[in-house]
Amino acid sequence: MPLVVLVERHADEVDELSLQAIAFARTLQSGADVHGLAIGEGSTRTASVLGAHGVSHLHVAEHEAFAPYAPQAVARAAVELIERLAPGVVLAAGTERGNEVLARVAAVHNRPFAANCTESTGGDPLRVIRQRWGGSLLEEAELSGEPALLTVAPHAVAASQANGRSAEVETFRPTLSPEELAVRVIEHVQTETKGVSLEDAKVVVSGGRGTGSAEGFAVIEELADLLGGAVGCSRAVTMAGWRPHTDQVGQTGTKIAPDVYIACGISGATQHMAGCKGAKKILVINTDPEASIMTGADYAVIGDLHEVVPAVSTALRKARGT
Ligand SMILES: Cc1cc2nc3c(=O)[nH]c(=O)nc-3n(C[C@H](O)[C@H](O)[C@H](O)COP(=O)(O)OP(=O)(O)OC[C@H]3O[C@@H](n4cnc5c(N)ncnc54)[C@H](O)[C@@H]3O)c2cc1C
Repeated sequence: MPLVVLVERHADEVDELSLQAIAFARTLQSGADVHGLAIGEGSTRTASVLGAHGVSHLHVAEHEAFAPYAPQAVARAAVELIERLAPGVVLAAGTERGNEVLARVAAVHNRPFAANCTESTGGDPLRVIRQRWGGSLLEEAELSGEPALLTVAPHAVAASQANGRSAEVETFRPTLSPEELAVRVIEHVQTETKGVSLEDAKVVVSGGRGTGSAEGFAVIEELADLLGGAVGCSRAVTMAGWRPHTDQVGQTGTKIAPDVYIACGISGATQHMAGCKGAKKILVINTDPEASIMTGADYAVIGDLHEVVPAVSTALRKARGT
């Protein structure tokens, strides 16, 4: 029985989280064909990358209504493909879109859906372990019936190549009703990001309420700049209007997996940690040695960020002779 993975892409690049979902799919049934479902023109250009990651067939759904995003229409395309291929499992990355589309597929197709899975043993019923409460709780669940629908928690598995050939491409045009076009994105407003994006940064320097104000972020920006990293923040900061929501790390912000996460003046609420627990190392700068973020820290400096952060920047400049 084949498996189907919903593939997200940015321009010609397959989203890293979709490649992770494909790697997860390959562990479910050995020898099963992994089919990709990609949306919109241009998707065919991803066939060789997807093939290298083990996708044997790429189904490209094309329709002028898809651009830039129409979740129910994408769900309808997925349902058409499911009816044609009768897959055992349908997967997507645990992104906002992946979760939204599969939830809609589940509703249309009347099937159970498990979001943000980290492990699965395969089989029927399909046993999964999945994240709840922004990752602070792991739940064991069973999905009965086929196809099982699941999304893969970001960074639960690494993307990996399978040395496959370029995926065989087939395009199709789903039949869409006016109701399926009722929800559509009609405009994208690009926010300006200076330098590297929060999602891609190897180093993220984040500030919390402890920064004290929007101006308090000057020292955070300076350190991020010196380290070639991105600036992040907690929700307390976005709620106060000190930084835009695009900078927010956490359950309702961006989920990141940098090499180093430097959390300054952040207490470490579970909703915040849900966004940064993929970091390889966490360095905390906080005045409170009892702050809950200390339990997740690899290194901690107990002190006022307004003194510690500029001191780190000065030491970095001195070490570089700049
Ligand atoms: C449904 C829901 C979703 C949420 N989603 C998110 C999310 O996505 N991301 C998120 O971040 N939060 C989220 N939250 C909010 C979360 O629960 C916390 O309220 C928030 O993370 C707290 O932000 P903070 O750590 O900056 O502030 P506080 O909890 O107020 O912590 C401030 C910290 O700064 C330290 N400090 C103070 N002054 C200094 C100083 N001068 N130098 C050094 N340290 C200092 C203090 O010791 C303290 O530890 C969510 C909440 C809910 C209910």
